[in-house]
Amino acid sequence: MAYQHRYLDGSPLALPIGKVVCIGRNYLDHIRELNNAVPETPILFMKPATALAGLDEAIRLPAGRGECHHEVELAVLVDRELRNADTDTARTAVAGYGIALDLTLRDLQNDLKKKGHPWETAKAFDGACPLSTFLHPEALPEPQATELALRVNGELRQQGNTRQMMVGIFELMAYISTHFTLQPGDVVLTGTPSGVGPLASGDVLTLSLAGHDFSARVA
Ligand code: ZN
Repeated sequence: MAYQHRYLDGSPLALPIGKVVCIGRNYLDHIRELNNAVPETPILFMKPATALAGLDEAIRLPAGRGECHHEVELAVLVDRELRNADTDTARTAVAGYGIALDLTLRDLQNDLKKKGHPWETAKAFDGACPLSTFLHPEALPEPQATELALRVNGELRQQGNTRQMMVGIFELMAYISTHFTLQPGDVVLTGTPSGVGPLASGDVLTLSLAGHDFSARVA
């Protein structure tokens, strides 16, 4: 079945499927683990709608393209158009919060970075954004102080708290909206804490957001 935005509790969610706008390097501990420089302005990139997949679908790793890393991230579902928005407006434009994987072909990305090329082929392939169902905004009263984690085969790989973000959620949405219009149904990924690493066929994943566990598996 094609990907559709859905709420965890099954209540209706009638938003179209849009693009995914992501930020690179938003948690200091992750920047350090990849020996990257701390950016002066947010590094933005996008994944197209074709990158979205539900966590109930098996994750398909592109074959023959080197390591595919997990990056667990808080996902924000946008519910109205934002263009040159301020932080307070962005705060009111959230339809829900979920948890996603920003799948990254790391070997390919390193190659592209070395050449100074864009990252799209490493980040925007089909299925590159497995995404959970969404919690209602009221279910996450403190989105900027929320635990997220990823376990792979029962082992804790990534753990963070959204308070460690360098650019906050609503500041990020506002910043994005000065470059690209955010539309209803778009998703914003807010960066990953440290602990990224390769996935392998058969891996069983548990993504945790504010005490809610979501399961996934790699085909
Ligand atoms: Zn990421």
